[in-house]
Amino acid sequence: MEPRRTPFDLPIDALPAPEGEAYRRAQLTEWLYVHGARDFEAMTTLPKGWRAALAAEQSVSPFDDVRRFPSWDGSVRYLFTLADGQRTEAVYMPYAGRKTVCVSSMVGCPAGCAFCATGALGFGRNLTRGEIVAQLLAVAWFEGFAPRELRNVVLMGMGEALLNYDAAIGAIRTWIDPRGLAMSPRRITLSTVGLPARIRRLAGEGLPLVLAVSLHAPDEATRRRIIPTAHAHALDDIVASLHDWQAAGGRRVTVEYTMLDGVNDAPAQAGALATLLAGLVVHVNLIPFNPWPGSGFEATPRERVRALQDVLVRAGVSTSVRFSRGRDTGGACGQLALREGATAA
Ligand code: SF4
Repeated sequence: MEPRRTPFDLPIDALPAPEGEAYRRAQLTEWLYVHGARDFEAMTTLPKGWRAALAAEQSVSPFDDVRRFPSWDGSVRYLFTLADGQRTEAVYMPYAGRKTVCVSSMVGCPAGCAFCATGALGFGRNLTRGEIVAQLLAVAWFEGFAPRELRNVVLMGMGEALLNYDAAIGAIRTWIDPRGLAMSPRRITLSTVGLPARIRRLAGEGLPLVLAVSLHAPDEATRRRIIPTAHAHALDDIVASLHDWQAAGGRRVTVEYTMLDGVNDAPAQAGALATLLAGLVVHVNLIPFNPWPGSGFEATPRERVRALQDVLVRAGVSTSVRFSRGRDTGGACGQLALREGATAA
């Protein structure tokens, strides 16, 4: 079975309009992205016959089923069932004054990072452009607000976005289109495990996104132990591609560093990380490991997290510690595993 066709698969300029009535495209666009209409029938300014014709060929939502798992901390994990029965997830995180969604680019993930529950699932398939775009719309539908109230997106859910390049970049272009969700690209974070050729290609897109790179270790041996793709992409080349990204006008890079007890959390490793990143405009996010059943890893104790942060800060590296939201619902960083239940374990 194929993924379902939706208007979100297409760039706004390519949306359909009845012969000789191009202005209807603008009306359709407004129903989708401003009003957040969930079906064609609700688009009452469009001619009835055209609504029926659209509905005969496609749906507004690419999802067969949407389940919400709210956390005590205010975040909500979303489990989406796609038209072909595959599933993927997103996490809604309301903060005071801003609404953020962590979005997936794939079903599962081929990268197989050892500390990540999504990696343990393996790769299902790439999401379509429409399935990526619509995760934001679905959160707005189900949380009950207008789609444009969403101001921040992180492409950090399931999948390696740069391996689903065209769909992920297409989705971003819809989100930032003034006729679409009119988001600022500066509020969109794209996360990658570190694929130098794709980072260089992204640098040529002219999109001032925030690039987040999952380094998780400052040396090849440790990195290869926890990230299988590290065998194919040398750390030096990844760091060189980050220099290229910034030279091409790319903005500050965020370095993601999941702290695993006894694996990558020695003070000397923090020192090596500072050396590796010298000359880059970076911010390091230290992420205490979020446990999941069968991972085989433990989280670094809090005192040691602080000690590592001190090493980095003394070396002049901007650093913060990210305690993830949604740990109780399996919605925290590295925990997404298509669980049916409302709790992580
Ligand atoms: Fe994939 Fe990211 Fe998990 Fe690695 S950490 S397996 S890239 S989802």
